[in-house]
Amino acid sequence: MCEKKIDQSNNPSHFENQSESKEIPTHVDLQWDEYKTKIQGFKFFDPHIHMVSRTTDDYQNMAQAGIVAVIEPAFWVGQPRTGLATFKDYYSSLVGWERFRSSQFGIKHYCTIGLNSREANNERLADEVMEILPLYIYKEGVVGIGEIGFDDQTELEEKYYRLQLELAKGAKLPVQIHTPHRDKKRGTERSMSIALEHGLDPSWVIVDHNNEETVKSVLDQGFYAAFTIYPFTKMGNKRMVSIVEEYGAEKIMINSSADWGISDPLAIPKTAALMVSRGISPDTIRKVTYENAIEAFAKSGQLDVSDFENGIMSDPSNKFHGNSVLRGGQQPKRDQNSLFID
Ligand SMILES: [Zn+2]
Repeated sequence: MCEKKIDQSNNPSHFENQSESKEIPTHVDLQWDEYKTKIQGFKFFDPHIHMVSRTTDDYQNMAQAGIVAVIEPAFWVGQPRTGLATFKDYYSSLVGWERFRSSQFGIKHYCTIGLNSREANNERLADEVMEILPLYIYKEGVVGIGEIGFDDQTELEEKYYRLQLELAKGAKLPVQIHTPHRDKKRGTERSMSIALEHGLDPSWVIVDHNNEETVKSVLDQGFYAAFTIYPFTKMGNKRMVSIVEEYGAEKIMINSSADWGISDPLAIPKTAALMVSRGISPDTIRKVTYENAIEAFAKSGQLDVSDFENGIMSDPSNKFHGNSVLRGGQQPKRDQNSLFID
């Protein structure tokens, strides 16, 4: 077990430009051998992870650590987009290929669909994206509009945030809000007050990437408070344990937000192991790592626990548009400690 300190500017993906952040990195790295016995019997649900950026190894390790289902919010893929077609392909992969790929590793995949705040600043393209969103948000497995909200807190971000809140209301879908890392407190308050102004029921809104500064207000106003356990930047898992000790489990959920930056798709099982070590009750752990996310996103009518609570059977012979994930009839590897790769 070790704690790392790393220059925050090295981590530019989900949380770019941390210069105004005073947060201290406190992520605890745990080796599989150190935590697997602690989390035996737990099932985990990661309500925010960008699997499009992850590898098959990640899927295998996640399945082995007890992650049975995930939600993949539509987000920024890093490379600036040159046209609408790449949005179409991206949304299609979230409801299609990635869902299939995940199933091949025994993990149920859901997604939220939206135009993210960063890309809302390209008005011409954003208008085009708004026109095609209704083609995707009603598809099977879409459990919300997300992730939307503020990044730089510009006027255009506000414009498309408001438009998408209306879209969510009309479609009766939960909303997953990305809160900005710069000037977070103000951005979070603004996101919530605009959601309320549009008449959204706060119990349908998941405010993400919270920290010690924002959690109280989010919970007091009746929203879900999600926390991203993201190494070196937002929220380390030691701090997360303290938040659960202070605020309890109601309406709190944990996610990894693992994407193409330095991030950890096993953030939830590792944090759960830390909670076990710190004497937090299994019921509380289950709520913040599994049940609360299900409760929040099941409002979409698209999420049924019976689809994954006992694991999903993957059929290696299945194909998606004629393509298989497990080429040549391979099987996902199950024993992470085996030295042998047959
Ligand atoms: Zn994200």
